[in-house]
Amino acid sequence: MKYEPVIGLEVHVELNTKSKMFCRCSADYFGKQPNTHTCPVCLGLPGALPFTNKEAIKKCLQIGLALNCKVVDLSRFERKIYFYPDLPKGYQISQYRWPLCVEGWLEVEDKDGKVSKIKINRVHQEEDTGKLSHIGGVTLIDYNRSTVPLVEIVTEPDFTDPSQVKDYAKKLQQIFRYLGVSSADMERGDMRLEANVSVRPAGQKELPNYRVELKNINSFRFMTAAIEYEIKRQIEALEKGEKLTQETRGWNEAKRDTYLQRSKEEAHDYRYFPEPDISELRVKSDELRIKEEIVELPNRKAKRFVADYGISRQNAQVLVDSKELAGYFEEAIKLGREKQLKPQEIANYIVNQKIKLASKDQVLRAVEDLAGKRVGILEDEVKIEKIVAEVIFENPNSVEDYQKGKLNALQALIGGVMRKTQGKVNVEKVRRILESKLQN
Ligand code: ADP
Ligand code: MG
Ligand code: ZN
Repeated sequence: MKYEPVIGLEVHVELNTKSKMFCRCSADYFGKQPNTHTCPVCLGLPGALPFTNKEAIKKCLQIGLALNCKVVDLSRFERKIYFYPDLPKGYQISQYRWPLCVEGWLEVEDKDGKVSKIKINRVHQEEDTGKLSHIGGVTLIDYNRSTVPLVEIVTEPDFTDPSQVKDYAKKLQQIFRYLGVSSADMERGDMRLEANVSVRPAGQKELPNYRVELKNINSFRFMTAAIEYEIKRQIEALEKGEKLTQETRGWNEAKRDTYLQRSKEEAHDYRYFPEPDISELRVKSDELRIKEEIVELPNRKAKRFVADYGISRQNAQVLVDSKELAGYFEEAIKLGREKQLKPQEIANYIVNQKIKLASKDQVLRAVEDLAGKRVGILEDEVKIEKIVAEVIFENPNSVEDYQKGKLNALQALIGGVMRKTQGKVNVEKVRRILESKLQN
């Protein structure tokens, strides 16, 4: 029998607000002295009353709107009850029955240009937990992260293969960064992924009656590996006639497999109930104006690049990776126009040569390089080395400065080589040769 995977993804993203979700403690906790960003509210002391961070709600709305969600008229917080010391209150304030944003979608495109539309079930607001460190038999707790604003984005089980999940998660990360709502750094834990995986006979319409939730994933690569492993494990189990049930498994990167964390019997009953200390949220229609303030997002930008500049979709996807890169690409196009360079040529050059565009200087240089290449770029290493040697000989002062540690003296030497060759050499190549010659 042939099987097909069914995958859904839950993404948590920590917002970069100044203060925490329900108190005025600073939310900028990373690397800070443990338990210094705390107060009675985020320590869960009896009698402390939470209040809502408006800026966080605005950022949650921005995410929801960027993901084409409907914003509900009335939204409420609820308590998700569980006993674990990472949350001193004994519950997490989250949303369950009345999430802020629902029913969205996001288009993802694979390497071959195939587009799929992933449905988004909900985008809701909640709070982060404290951080436990298990060190030498003791557990240390840091509550600096407790109550930092967290947004959860849940998809429908629409994915059919792991690489599609990765494309989606990367696109989300881009969107968070375009919106400026989070640095979405996976290593720091600003962005966390949980994949739900099941398999069904190919062609079957109904969802399998179980799902396996994968936790402990902290990179896109691990996520793909974990999902791939899990699909294989589940198919093998079904082929042996085993029955699969709901469970939570963790990814073990060292062994490259998943291990059981919690079975159905041990599943939590969170007994959600409305949070009585926080008023409900009513989003007024004028507050939805933030939709108009949202920047041009990567998918739309890529489409515009294809339409306006005639570049390939693949190149467009690479060039919209960050708002900054996309901006520099457009500057390069303007500059290139003066030198009769076509946008397609510039796009190909930047993408194929993996050129970093992270400053105006680099844009200028890339365009100059490309224009120079057109009139016959100097590729002969021996010739370039000879010119580099001349420049070193003629500029003893810059050489001395550089060797004393003034690293930007190298720029003058590179400039010398560029002048001698009328800009017809690759700057990075010149830099490499210069650096290696000056080292000894
Ligand atoms: P929970 O809080 O219990 O994890 P959520 O509703 O937050 O529940 O998330 C459920 C996730 O599981 C969603 O991403 C959904 O798409 C996915 N999912 C639901 N059913 C299946 C299934 N049969 N196989 C794979 N994923 C599923
Ligand atoms: Mg879940
Ligand atoms: Zn606090």
